[in-house]
Amino acid sequence: MKKKKKKMRKKKMNVYENVCQQFNKAADLMHLDPDVRNILSKTTNEIVVNFPVRMDDGKIDMFTGYRVQHNSVLGPYKGGLRYHPLVDINEVRALATWMTWKSAIVNIPYGGAKGGIQFDPTKCSFGEIQRITRRFTFALGCNIGPEYDIPAPDVNTNAQIMAWILDTYLSTQPPHERQRSTHVVTGKPVEAGGSLGRDKATGQGVVFCIEQWAKDTKFKLKGATYTVQGFGNVGSWAAYLMKRHGSKLLAVEDVSGAIRNQNGIDADDLIAYVQKTKGVKNYPKAEPISHLDLFKTKADIFIPAALENQITAETVRFLRVKVVAEGANGPTDIDGDVSLWRRNIDVIPDILCNAGGVVVSYFEWLQNKRSEFWDLGEVDTKLHRKMIDAYQRVRDTAKASKTDWRTAAYIVALRRLETVYRERGIFP
Ligand code: GLU
Repeated sequence: MKKKKKKMRKKKMNVYENVCQQFNKAADLMHLDPDVRNILSKTTNEIVVNFPVRMDDGKIDMFTGYRVQHNSVLGPYKGGLRYHPLVDINEVRALATWMTWKSAIVNIPYGGAKGGIQFDPTKCSFGEIQRITRRFTFALGCNIGPEYDIPAPDVNTNAQIMAWILDTYLSTQPPHERQRSTHVVTGKPVEAGGSLGRDKATGQGVVFCIEQWAKDTKFKLKGATYTVQGFGNVGSWAAYLMKRHGSKLLAVEDVSGAIRNQNGIDADDLIAYVQKTKGVKNYPKAEPISHLDLFKTKADIFIPAALENQITAETVRFLRVKVVAEGANGPTDIDGDVSLWRRNIDVIPDILCNAGGVVVSYFEWLQNKRSEFWDLGEVDTKLHRKMIDAYQRVRDTAKASKTDWRTAAYIVALRRLETVYRERGIFP
C-alpha cells in the first residue's frame, strides 16, 4: 500500500501538462482561432490562501487553500473543492480547466473553477474539518459568490461541508444579502437548499453514458461485468445503479485496498460495509487483490472513479475491457490514452462522462434562484436529456473529425467557447 501511494504521487505531478497536451491536440485539429487559443491556455485567477486553524490539541496549524478560476466567458466560475494531501496548484489548475470544458460540453451557463485544501481529512476530527472549512471560506472572502464563483463537493468533501461554507459565507454578508445567496454553493443538504438527485448525479451521469454506449454498440448491460476504482460518492453510486441493470461488479479498489470476487460483489452490501468501515479492505465476501490485479481483472466495463493518472503506460497494458467510463477527473494520462486508442478500447472521457454532477449543481442553483423545489423525476429526466445530448454531440464529432472521443469532447467545448469569443470580442 505504501508503495502504491508513492507511485500515485509520482504519476500525479504532470496533471496540468496532460490538460495542456489534450487542449493543444484538439486546438490543432479544429484550427482553433489563435487568439482564443491564447486566452484559453491560461487560467484567469489563481488564489492561494494560507490560514490558521486551532486544532483539537489546542495548537494552531497553518493550512494552504487554493481556488483557481480558469474562464468565465460562458457564465460564473463553477467547480468543486477537494480536500486531499496531494492538492497543489497544478492539480487545481488542471481541474479548473477541465470544468470550463465540462460545462461547455453539457451546455450549461458556467465557466470553470476548482479549489482545494492540502491536508488529509481522514486524520482530522469532525470539529477540525468544520473549523478548517469555515476558516477557508472566510479566507476566500468575496472570491466566491452566488453569481460569481460557486463551489461544490469533490474528493473528500460532501453536503455537510457545503452547509458549513454556506453558513460561513452568509454570516459574513450584509443582512439584506443573506436570504438571496443560498446558491453560493451547490451540493448542499436537501434541507439546506440542496437539490434532490445531486448526491447521485455524477454516478447517475456515468451510468446514463454507459447506457447510451451499450445502446449504440448493441451491448447488453444485463449480465455484463465491470470493475470500479474509487468507492466514494461517484464509484458507489455508479455501482448501485449498474446493479439495477443486472450488471456484475467483479473488483473494486479504494484508498484502503482492492478486492475481487469473480462471482460478483453485491453493490448494496458493499456500500453498507464501506459506510461502517470507511473502506473496502477486509470485505468478507471477496478476496484481497493488489492494485495491478484490479487492472488485470477481465471485464466489459472499467469505471475509474478515484484520482488522476491511474490509467498510464504502466497499467493500461493490463486492461482487458471494452469501454472505460471515466467517473474521475483525469484518470487517464497521455500515454494511457494513446494505448487505449491503439487497442480499440472505447473511452467515454471524463469531461463528458462525469459531467452529471455539475449539471445537477446547475439545477440546484436554478431552483435556489427561482425559489423552486423540483421532484426527483424532474431532475433525473432533465439530467438524462443533458447527458444524452452531450454524448451524441461528442460521438458525432468524433466520427466527423475522425478522432478519439476525448479530442472530440474538447472540440465540442472549444467550438462553443470560440463562438462566444468571436461574438463578444475582448474589452477594450
Ligand atoms: N466536483 C464535481 C466535478 O468535478 C462537481 C462540480 C460542481 O458541481 O460544480 O465535476
